[in-house]
Amino acid sequence: DPRIQGIAASIRVVPDFPKKGIMFQDITTLLLDPKAFKNTVDLFVERYSGKNISVVAGIEARGFIFGPPIALAIGAKFVPLRKPRKLPGEVISEKYVLEYGTDCLEMHVGAIQPCDRALVVDDLVATGGTLRAAMNLLERAGAEVVECACVIELPELKGRERLNGKPLYVLMESR
Ligand code: 5GP
Repeated sequence: DPRIQGIAASIRVVPDFPKKGIMFQDITTLLLDPKAFKNTVDLFVERYSGKNISVVAGIEARGFIFGPPIALAIGAKFVPLRKPRKLPGEVISEKYVLEYGTDCLEMHVGAIQPCDRALVVDDLVATGGTLRAAMNLLERAGAEVVECACVIELPELKGRERLNGKPLYVLMESR
């Protein structure tokens, strides 16, 4: 799709952030380019319209930027998957392993019904641990995870292989 090149060009790569050796993919510069931002949302909306998706689950924090406009356009509810101790209601939690230590995602009990068909949205997939935790939360609540969608994949980290065979759709790969 010719739109993808413009989106890719709008993403800034910041060397050695947040620590030495990491090439950080900074999507805030994509957000500064209204055409690139709209094209990003449109590409996902075109893919997921008419697929009977009832919930878009966005991962804190950058899944909160791309998820809601997709949810509104396809007529789905939006559910935030948050870092620990942010949600006020009763939650279920999933811990996951990071390069150093562990992290955790939480979801409100009652946000998901067993008949829900879910799309998981984040900006980037690296090792896949975050998406995997998100899928686990949704499946524990009884939802069917239809697909995970990210703007960028770092294929060298093989995150796709950690998703239990669930489809992952990305707009571009980066190294
Ligand atoms: P994973 O769990 O797949 O190893 O890491 C993915 C998570 O880390 C995502 O929530 C993503 O936002 C964040 N992340 C890791 N590396 C980068 C990066 O280079 N750029 C951005 N924007 N997010 C990153």
